[in-house]
Amino acid sequence: ALSAKNVPQAPEDPLYGLVNAYLSDKSDKKIDLSVGVYRDDNAKPWVLPAVQKAEQLYQCDPDLDHEYLPIAGLPEFINAAQRLIVGADSPAIRESRICSFQTISGTGAVHLGGALLSRFLPLPTPAIYLSSPTWAIHDQIFNNVGLAIKEYPYFSSKTKMMDFDGMISVLGSAPPGSIILLHACAHNPTGVDPTHDQWGKIAKIIRANRLFPFFDCAYQGFASGSLAQDNFAIRYFIDHGFELAIAQSFSKNMGLYGQRVGAFHYIACPGSGAQEIVERVASQLAILQRSEISTPPLFGAKIASIVLNDKEICADWEKDLRTMSGRINTMRESLKQGLDQLQTPGQWGHITSQIGMFSFTGLSKSQVLSLREKWHVYMVETGRISMAGLNSGNVRYFAEAVDDVVR
Ligand code: PMP
Repeated sequence: ALSAKNVPQAPEDPLYGLVNAYLSDKSDKKIDLSVGVYRDDNAKPWVLPAVQKAEQLYQCDPDLDHEYLPIAGLPEFINAAQRLIVGADSPAIRESRICSFQTISGTGAVHLGGALLSRFLPLPTPAIYLSSPTWAIHDQIFNNVGLAIKEYPYFSSKTKMMDFDGMISVLGSAPPGSIILLHACAHNPTGVDPTHDQWGKIAKIIRANRLFPFFDCAYQGFASGSLAQDNFAIRYFIDHGFELAIAQSFSKNMGLYGQRVGAFHYIACPGSGAQEIVERVASQLAILQRSEISTPPLFGAKIASIVLNDKEICADWEKDLRTMSGRINTMRESLKQGLDQLQTPGQWGHITSQIGMFSFTGLSKSQVLSLREKWHVYMVETGRISMAGLNSGNVRYFAEAVDDVVR
C-alpha cells in the first residue's frame, strides 16, 4: 500500500515556490524576474496580435469540432512546424528523411525524444551530455526515461562567456554514440550562444567522435527577432548530413505557454535506406505517444497552424517576434545604462551581449537573497533573470537594487 513511508515528501519546484513567494509579497515595488514568460511594458501577459487573428479565424470556422487528432498530431500543424524548424527548402524534407510528432510543448518533445533514445540506442545505452548549466528540467526529464546524465562545460563564470575550449575538450572525449543536448539558440539560462564559426567546430567534433546531436529549440524567432537567424545551427547540422533530433516549442515565440504546443522531429542521415529508417522511427514514436498521451491537444495546434500557414498572419507574427525581442533588447540596454550611471562595481557588458529571454547576471546567491528581502525582487538563486520582467517602469529601480547589493 502507499504509506507515508513509501512516499516521502518531495521538495516544491524551486521556480514555482518563488512565484508563490512573489504573489504573496504585498509590496507595490515587487518585481518578478523568475519564470521565463514574456511580459509587455506594463508587466502584463501579451496575446500576440497574430495569434488573436488566428483565434478569430478559428472561431469562425463552420467545420469547428472537438474530435481527436491523429496520434502524430494535426497534419497541417506538423508540416508547417517542420518547414519552420528545418527550412522549407531543407534536403531533409525533399528527401523524406524527417518525421515529426506533435507534443505537449517543448517539455513533451524533449521527453518523447528522450524516451525514444533511451529505448532504441544500442546497449549499453550511452549517456546524454547536458551543458553546465542548463534548463533545470532537462536533468529531470532524462532521469525519468532512465538515461545516464553527464555534463559538458559551457559557461565560464569568470569571463561570463562560453567556455568553448572546455566544451570541445569534453565532447572530444565523450564515448562514441553519446547524445549531446544542444540549445539551438538563446541558451537557457546563460543567454550565451556559440558563434557560427563555433557551431562549425562543434559539428566537426560531433562528427569525428560519432556523437548524436539532440537540439532543444525553445526560442526560435524570440531570440533575435529573425526565425532564420535563430535556426542557423539546426540548418547547419542538417546541411552537413547529420542524423539528429529536435525538440521544438511554440510557448515563447507564439506566447502559447498554457496551450502546450510543440513538436518532436527526427532526421535521418542522407543515403539509401533513410526513408525506411524514418518510417520505423515514426512507428515507434506512435507507440510511445499512444501510451502516454494517446493523441495531442487540438486548440493550440489549430491556432499555431493558422499562424504558420496563412501568409498574412505569418508576416504579422514575424512582426510580433520583432516587437518582443526588440523590447527585451531595449531593457538590456536600459539596465546596462542604469548600472553604468550608478557606477555599479563590476563588469556588466554581458547584459547587452547575451541574447534571448534570460540574462545570467553573475549575482551571487547571497546577493539574490538580499534583493528578495530588501528590494522585493524575485529571481532564481543562480542569478538568472527573465529579462521580460523588466519594463520602463521598473528597470531603474532594479538597477538601484543591484547597485545596492553588490556594494
Ligand atoms: N527547453 C528549454 C531550454 C526551455 O527554456 C523551455 C522553456 N522554459 C523548454 C524547453 C520547454 O518549454 P515548454 O514546455 O513550455 O515549451
